Amino acid sequence: MLNQIWNVVIVGGGPAGFFAAIRCAELNPGFRVLIVEKAHQTLGKILASGGGRCNVTHACFDPAQLVNFYPRGGAALRSAFTRFQPADTVKWFAERGVKLKTEADGRMFPVTDSSETITDCLRKAASLAGVKVQTGTSLLKVEKSPMVGFKLGVVKEGEDSVIHTQKLLIATGSNSKTWEILKALGHAIEEPAPSLFTFNVKDKRIDGLAGITVEDVTLKMDSLAQRGPLLITHWGLSGPAVLKLSAWGARILFEKKYRAPLTVNWLGDHRLDSALEVLQRNKDWHENARKKVSAQSAFSQIPIRLWKQLTQFIGDKNWGDISKAELRKLAEELTAGQFEISGKGQFKEEFVTCGGVKLSEVDFKTMQSRVVDGLFFAGEVLDIDGVTGGFNFQSAWTTGWLAGSAVSVSNNP
Ligand SMILES: Cc1cc2nc3c(=O)[nH]c(=O)nc-3n(C[C@H](O)[C@H](O)[C@H](O)COP(=O)(O)OP(=O)(O)OC[C@H]3O[C@@H](n4cnc5c(N)ncnc54)[C@H](O)[C@@H]3O)c2cc1C
Repeated sequence: MLNQIWNVVIVGGGPAGFFAAIRCAELNPGFRVLIVEKAHQTLGKILASGGGRCNVTHACFDPAQLVNFYPRGGAALRSAFTRFQPADTVKWFAERGVKLKTEADGRMFPVTDSSETITDCLRKAASLAGVKVQTGTSLLKVEKSPMVGFKLGVVKEGEDSVIHTQKLLIATGSNSKTWEILKALGHAIEEPAPSLFTFNVKDKRIDGLAGITVEDVTLKMDSLAQRGPLLITHWGLSGPAVLKLSAWGARILFEKKYRAPLTVNWLGDHRLDSALEVLQRNKDWHENARKKVSAQSAFSQIPIRLWKQLTQFIGDKNWGDISKAELRKLAEELTAGQFEISGKGQFKEEFVTCGGVKLSEVDFKTMQSRVVDGLFFAGEVLDIDGVTGGFNFQSAWTTGWLAGSAVSVSNNP
C-alpha cells in the first residue's frame, strides 16, 4: 500500500485527520487519500473523551462568541468558524445518522452517550469515501521532493520505509517529535504547555470538604479572573471556574512552575462592602445576638460545612459578640480569600496542550503552510486550544474540514 504515489497523505488518525480525509475524499472521489497513524488503533482520544461519552461540540452557534472560548487561536479561528461551526458539526453527524443532544451547560454529546458512536461514524464515513488507513506507522522525516511533492520517511513494525505524496497534511495532535520535524522544515513552534488542569491547594479551610460545590465563585490569579462553579477535591480545587482559569493561565502557571497565589471570592460578584452589609445585618438582627456565627451560613450559596471552616478564626462566638474588625475580616475571607496553588492536578475528562505550530505561519482559509508549499495542518498540532466543553473537538472538526476542502483541489501545488 505504501509504494504508490498518493495525492494526499494525512499524518495522524485523530478527529482532525479523519475529518480532513473524509472531506477531501468525498469532494474528490478520484483522489488517493491515505491516513498514516502511529498507534495500532485510530481515534484513540475520542474513545477516552468526555468520560467515554465524547463531548463532540458546544451549542454556541455565533462565531463571534465562539472564539471567546479559545485562550489561544480564537482570532485565527474567527473566519474559519464562519465556514464550519458547531451547527455544521451537528448537521454533518446527523447526515451520517448520528444525533447529538445538548446538556444544560451547552455541551453536546451523541444521544447514545457513547464515544464509540462517533468513532464508528468516522471510520464508516472514511471507508465509504475510499480513504485508506495505515496504522502502526510513524512519521519520522519529511523531505520536499521536486518530482512529487513530499517524500516521507516512516517506520512500520521496526522497518523503515518511504511514502511519496503530492500534498501532506499534518494532524498529529500535540506531539513533540512532529514539531521537531516541522522545525526542520522551517516552521516556528510555540512552546508547548499543559492546559485544562485542576489546582493542588493544601489549606485547612478546605480540608476534609472534598465533594462540596459552590455554584458561583470568582477566582483571580495574576491578571486573570474566571467565574463559575467550584468543586473542592481531595487535593485542592476543581470545577469549571478552575478549569477555565487553568486554560487562560496555562502559560503563566507553566512559567511559575504551578505555584501562585489564588484569590477566591466565594460569593460570585459580591464586593467587600456588600458582603459586609449582609454580615452587619446578621449581627444587628436581635434574634441572632445569642446564636453562634458558625451555626448557620449567612449566604445561602455557601454550604454549612464550608462556612464553619471559613469562620473558624471567629471561634465559638455569637453574632452579638463579634467585633467590627472580625466582621470585616470575615467579609474579606468570603470575597477575597487568599489561597496558594502548589501544583497541578489532572482533569480526567479532558486534557489539551497549548503551543504548537505558530498560527501566523498558516493561511486559515486553506490551512496551508505559508512556509512550505503543499503542506497543510489541522487540529491540536497548531497553537490552538479551547476551554473544556467540546471546543477542542470543534477546532479539530473546523480545521480538518477546511484543510480537507483545500487539499481536495487538484491544481494545488
Ligand atoms: C482524556 C481526554 C478527553 C478529552 N475529551 C474531550 C472532549 O470531550 N471534548 C473535546 O472537545 N475535547 C476533548 N479532549 C481534547 C481532544 O481529544 C483533542 O483536542 C483532539 O483529540 C485533538 O484532535 P487531533 O486530531 O488534532 O489530535 P489527536 O486526537 O491527538 O490525534 C493525533 C493522532 O496522530 C497520531 N500521531 C502522532 N504523531 C504521529 C506520527 N509521528 N506519525 C503517525 N501518527 C502520529 C496520534 O497517535 C493520534 O492518533 C480530550 C482529551 C483527552 C486527553
